[in-house]
Amino acid sequence: MNLYEYQGKKIFARYGIPVPRGEVASSPEEARRIAAELGGEVVLKAQVLAGGRGKAGGVKFASSPEEAESVAKELLSMKLKGFKVEKVLVEQKLNIRREIYAGITIDRAEGKPVFMVSGEGGVDIETIAERSPEKIFTRHVDPFVGFYPYMARELASELGIERESFKRISEVLLKLYRLFSEKDAQLAEINPLVIADEGVFAADAKVVIDEDALFRQDFGVKSKGLPYVELDGSIGCVVNGAGLAMATMDTLKHLGGEPANFLDIGGGAGREVMREALLRVASHPRVKVVFINILGGITRCDEIARGILAAREGINLPLVVRFRGTREEEGIALLREAGIEVERDMLKAAKLAIEKSREATE
Ligand code: GDP
Ligand code: MN
Repeated sequence: MNLYEYQGKKIFARYGIPVPRGEVASSPEEARRIAAELGGEVVLKAQVLAGGRGKAGGVKFASSPEEAESVAKELLSMKLKGFKVEKVLVEQKLNIRREIYAGITIDRAEGKPVFMVSGEGGVDIETIAERSPEKIFTRHVDPFVGFYPYMARELASELGIERESFKRISEVLLKLYRLFSEKDAQLAEINPLVIADEGVFAADAKVVIDEDALFRQDFGVKSKGLPYVELDGSIGCVVNGAGLAMATMDTLKHLGGEPANFLDIGGGAGREVMREALLRVASHPRVKVVFINILGGITRCDEIARGILAAREGINLPLVVRFRGTREEEGIALLREAGIEVERDMLKAAKLAIEKSREATE
């Protein structure tokens, strides 16, 4: 699961990695307010799950709240690397003196995390690797031994940084490893980690969490106590039970689909829970189709159908409904009256959902 820069930076902040002051905005007006609160010059950054935004025009500067508003408006109407820009991060503009690269990922061949640093930050690691591979320093970390302050200092000493920033940079590397390990990350990257007049800061954040570890990480936005998890595709999912949730995710992925989120309504949910779950899942800006996949046991399919019908007026998206079990026939009849066909076969339903999500994103 890829996190947006602003989400990554929130986690950085919790781990004591310094990030520039700022906040995320969903509208030009909000951007203006944040810029006014920050005062002075600001940087506005399009929040998309892709790197290289700087070159693509997704990172811009403004020197007044008014300018921030118009720049945000421009960014929010952009499509960047195939992604619609839904949010803009507004931050204090730093006076950057140096840009450093720091990243940790898993080296699958070695079966160990590998730490990489370079004094040539700002450009992506692949480019550094191509142009000047000798400028990347790597160190494998034995997860059973751990990563210690002296190891962070060793890495930092490869960067040729002046004494006054050395301690700060080493601390950031140490905290980045802690975050990587505790958050079950597959990638934790700061590019650039900057030395600025204002101090040492993570000017960018790229964090990828291992989806197999999501069950023990709490990135979900809780919806009335129901388990809700956000992913990065376009298919919203309402399911019941953790097992069916995983099976639904796996099936969609296996067929080439990308879930946007899922909400587990649990056992015995009635129409009201179903209605709220559907509205909640459909409210995410990335969702283009909602896939409802329910196994009727204590949960009654006719109640699910009533919940779907009650939510429908608030939703302007295609729905794909699959349910089986208790009161299935009643549920099918209720939905058919409203022009919604129920698919009984899970594979067929998943394929249909993927098809509809593709139609919507084309
Ligand atoms: P990316 O291109 O998607 O990786 O986006 P980044 O967040 O890394 O920003 C790209 C570049 O914008 C950085 O390498 C910096 O050179 C520049 N940049 C970002 N924030 C600031 C800032 O506060 N001040 C200055 N002067 N430049 C910045
Ligand atoms: Mn970057």
